[in-house]
Amino acid sequence: MGNVFAYPLEDRLYLNLTNQCPNRCVFCIRNNEKGVGYDLWLDREPSAEEVLAAAGDVSAYREVVFCGYGEPLIRWEVVVAVAGALKARYGVKIRVNTNGLAEAFLKQRILPRLQGLVDTISISLNAADADTYDRLCHSCLGPEAYPALLSFIRESKVYIPRVVVSVVEIPGFDPEPARKLAEELGVELRIRSYLQE
Ligand code: SF4
Repeated sequence: MGNVFAYPLEDRLYLNLTNQCPNRCVFCIRNNEKGVGYDLWLDREPSAEEVLAAAGDVSAYREVVFCGYGEPLIRWEVVVAVAGALKARYGVKIRVNTNGLAEAFLKQRILPRLQGLVDTISISLNAADADTYDRLCHSCLGPEAYPALLSFIRESKVYIPRVVVSVVEIPGFDPEPARKLAEELGVELRIRSYLQE
């Protein structure tokens, strides 16, 4: 087991806070042995201080991204502390990659805490309807997951300047329903290739 709390990929620095996740998606990178080229399994979760120490001077990066082999907003207090410190010290752009379920999972409001700290939120939509979502994501939240995700996307627009939703191009994928839904939600759509992060 390694403990990689921060790792660069091209001109971005990625922060790895947790392996906890309410979902078990069929396409999860955690199921892909090669992963992103780093061992992102944690044998313990880092404190905000440890993440900041691992990140170091981030002024050269285009963006700092909270992600990990798990759902970073499950540890939203650490996201807030680290994003706040990095913004204050370096004025760096901050992005959070999320499955959009942490509020429903923790039964807690998180988005208002991110206001002014997070520039972009990239939310895994994964499907344009609840049945497909359940089939792909196997959420421990069950049928509650998809409506919670949609309301998280809508709410994100209130607190975060740029909201992007993503879907994975699994075999037989038709992008049209996702395009339509993203348009209705008023957010950008990104189509990720299968096994891409
Ligand atoms: S939500 Fe993300 S981390 Fe969680 S199982 Fe799905 S792809 Fe993996």
